[in-house]
Formats: sequence, C-alpha cells, structure tokens
Amino acid sequence: MAKFSERAQAKEAERVALKGHLRAVLKLYDRNTCTHDETHRGGAIWTICDGCGKQWADDRGGFVPYVDPPEIAAARVAVR
Ligand SMILES: [Zn+2]
Repeated sequence: MAKFSERAQAKEAERVALKGHLRAVLKLYDRNTCTHDETHRGGAIWTICDGCGKQWADDRGGFVPYVDPPEIAAARVAVR
C-alpha cells in the first residue's frame, strides 16, 4: 500500500512540475505575442499597437484582433 502511495505522490509531483513548466511556456508566449486591443493609425497604411508598437500594414491584411489559438487556449485550461 505504501508503495502505491509513493507512486501516486511521484505522479502528483510530476503533474505539478509539468503544470509549472507549461505556465512558464505560456508566460513566454504572452511576452512575445501582441494581445493588445488599443491601436492607432500611422502613415497611410499602418495600424500600430499602443501597447507594444507592433505594426500591421493594410496591404498585408491589416490589424486582426488577437484570439488565442486552440493550442494556447487548451494550455491555459490545463494550468488552471
Ligand atoms: Zn501589442
């Protein structure tokens, strides 16, 4: 019985560690992804993020509001 409990504890510790690693990956993703909504226009064709300065050219599709890709949304649910 003690052996099963040790195994269960090891599994739980592994699960907690993996969640921590996934949280760190999401943090890195968020730091490198523009998720801001506030923008202003620049020049004739640019939309510029007020938060981070990312630029979108109208002739390259223009600004598209951020939405989590399914993989990131699933990861956010997994670390709750
Ligand atoms: Zn931004």
